Amino acid sequence: MRINLAKSAGFCFGVKRALEIAKEIAKNQKDVVMLGDIVHNERVIKEIIKLGIRKINKLCENNNQTLIIRAHGEPKRIFDLAKKFNYKIIDATCPMVKEIHRIAKDMEEKGYFIIVIGDKNHDEVRGIIGQLNKKAMVIEDIKDIDINKIKKLKKVAVVVQSTQELDKVLKIVEVLKRYIKELKFFNTICMPTRIKQKEIKEMPKKNDCMIIIGSKNSANTKRLYEISKKINKKTYWVNSAGEIKELWLKDVNTIGITAGASTPDETIKEVIEKIELIRK
Ligand code: SF4
Repeated sequence: MRINLAKSAGFCFGVKRALEIAKEIAKNQKDVVMLGDIVHNERVIKEIIKLGIRKINKLCENNNQTLIIRAHGEPKRIFDLAKKFNYKIIDATCPMVKEIHRIAKDMEEKGYFIIVIGDKNHDEVRGIIGQLNKKAMVIEDIKDIDINKIKKLKKVAVVVQSTQELDKVLKIVEVLKRYIKELKFFNTICMPTRIKQKEIKEMPKKNDCMIIIGSKNSANTKRLYEISKKINKKTYWVNSAGEIKELWLKDVNTIGITAGASTPDETIKEVIEKIELIRK
C-alpha cells in the first residue's frame, strides 16, 4: 500500500504566523488572552493554553491584558471595544484576510454595495462585514441568491472568504453578473487555499481512498473534504489518528492524505503511523 501525502497538507502561512506571534508574546508577557480560538484546531488551542494564554469569550472593562486577535480577524467594533477597555492589542490577523478588509472598505468608500461570498457564521466573514459602515450581503450558496434583492443593486463589489472553493464562487458570480449592471469581482481566495484545492482536485482521482485531516470546525478542511468526496466516494474526514477505521483501508492500494490549514504536523504524522500500523 502506498501513502501519498499532499505537498500542501497542514499549516498555511497565516496560521503559522499567528502561532509564532502567540508563542513570542507568551514568552515575553504575562496576562495574555485570545478572544475565541486563535485558529480552528483543538490540539493547537490546547498547546497555546499550555503556554499561558487564556481563552476568553468576551471582552471585559478596565483591563490591562494583552489581547491577541486571531488569524481570521475580527470586526472593527471588537478593536474599538478592546481599545476602550484598555487591552493592549496584538493583531495576528492573516495579511491575506487584511487585504480582503482593505478591498471591501475601499470599494464601499467608492460607493459600491459589498457582497461577500462565504459562510455566514464564519469568523472571517463576520470580520469582513464588520469592517464596513453599511450592511453587506453574504451569499453562502447559489441557492441563497435572492434575485429580487439582487436586481435592485446597481454598483456591487464582490469579495470572497479566503477559503472558498473557486468553482462554486465563479458560478455565483456568473448569476450575479446577469442581474447587476456594474459588478466588480475580487477573487480573494488566498494562495495557500488555491494550492490546496488544486491538489485536492487531482489526488482523489489517483488514489483509491482519501483521508482529510482537520478539525470539524475548520472551514477549509470542510471544503477539502467536500471537493474530494465529490470525486472519490471513499473520502473520510478525521480530526485525529484515533478516528481511522480499519474497514476504510480494506482493498485499498493507494491512500491520499491531505490536511486543513490549521492541522499540526504531529496530527498528520500520527495518522500516517496509524495507517501503517493497520496495514502491517
Ligand atoms: S487560509 Fe489563507 S487567509 Fe486563511 S489564514 Fe491561511 S493563508 Fe491566511
